[in-house]
Amino acid sequence: MVMLGDLASKGVLAGSTTELPYYIRVALLLSLDYRLGRTCLETIGTCIAQLCDALKRSNDWETLSTDIIEHMLDTTKQDVFEQHHILEALKWAAATSPAAWELRLRLATSFVEQHGSEEPCSDCRTGKADTSHRLKCIWNAMQRDEFSASRFKQSGLPEDYVKMTMAVKILGIALGSVDDLQKDKKMANEIAKRLRLIFGNIADPRASYIERSEAKHELVTLSSWIRLVAPITDSDTQTRLPFTKKEPMEPPLAIQTEPSMAPDMSSKE
Ligand SMILES: [Zn+2]
Repeated sequence: MVMLGDLASKGVLAGSTTELPYYIRVALLLSLDYRLGRTCLETIGTCIAQLCDALKRSNDWETLSTDIIEHMLDTTKQDVFEQHHILEALKWAAATSPAAWELRLRLATSFVEQHGSEEPCSDCRTGKADTSHRLKCIWNAMQRDEFSASRFKQSGLPEDYVKMTMAVKILGIALGSVDDLQKDKKMANEIAKRLRLIFGNIADPRASYIERSEAKHELVTLSSWIRLVAPITDSDTQTRLPFTKKEPMEPPLAIQTEPSMAPDMSSKE
């Protein structure tokens, strides 16, 4: 692995660009072994980063990285657990390599968009899409059954909630960084609202269903994070969410942060 990474970073492998995607896939699959220790994971992670960087330097980055994504879409067969595993395996590399970061983002977006016989949008898959386009495609994907808010109004099976938890984790990766969300706050907030809606529709009296509690936790964590990093000034939407903090930088409508809000909120429960 160390040698492979070295060869890639020295440009020796650059001539055989068709083999780079293969090595990346093998390294990814290797890192999925849960018995691996920290040192091993670090070695593989570094190798993946170097391979991704070498691939990015080649002229075929767009085609070859798309090949990797398509291969992963086929391999995982819409299994959210496997998809999440693959994305986790790329996490280490993504922290050091912009190429690996981009690959992880496009892969997560494609996982979110893939459904049934539906192919992920080709602009999102090939990386031609800008952030606004990507967020819009994610929003569209959230209109499907899998993220249907009403579906969770009737109590689902425990597996449904476990899958929902995983799907939201993948969605969180697909949304990208803080910078991405700030580029299209409106769309980001629509996604946050949708997550809150599903959260509200999952009945979990006294937090007695562990799978539902976990799903709710994931939904509210992601939704709150979006609202915090990409706040919009629409006061109506802000105040409807009881957990939303008023931004200290915004002087107007300061009345709403007063404790007088508290009895109002508790009466809703
Ligand atoms: Zn798209």
